[in-house]
Amino acid sequence: MTCQHCSTNIIRKIPKGDTHERSVCGVCDIVLYENPKIVTGILPVFEDKILICKRNIEPRKNYWTIPSGFMELNETLKEAALREAKEEAGIEPKIDHLHTIYDLPHIGQVYFLFKAFCETSDHSPGIETIESKWVTYSDIPWNELAFSSVEFGLRHFHRTGPHYGSWDQ
Ligand SMILES: [Zn+2]
Repeated sequence: MTCQHCSTNIIRKIPKGDTHERSVCGVCDIVLYENPKIVTGILPVFEDKILICKRNIEPRKNYWTIPSGFMELNETLKEAALREAKEEAGIEPKIDHLHTIYDLPHIGQVYFLFKAFCETSDHSPGIETIESKWVTYSDIPWNELAFSSVEFGLRHFHRTGPHYGSWDQ
């Protein structure tokens, strides 16, 4: 990797006054900070069901997730979550509140999941989704979930006060 300003090779060192080793240009001293990435998504609710999506892309293709993905530059957290919901499941839910924050420090990611309500049960999987479907809590395919963050979000969802009684089983 080379510096985008002067094309000198990037080196690893602890910059003056810093505590972490960083990727630094040896000539212009520009530091290439590497920080966690934000993943945001939606826990979509309609009546007593939640919408899950079977992934059509790696990693974890064919496993179930909720609409979520990496935040882009120039969008807010809510905009990113709603964009993912539209792209992956063809839904335009109304956000209720920020429901789950889940740290994945070993891979440098933080998840922010919003609980959101759909006005209808309409949905249509996008190209990154093989299939989307509404499930009750007891129908969640726990052994076929794509990521620990999804399982955490769904279990947390159940624990923290369901909107409808059938989540309280
Ligand atoms: Zn440089």
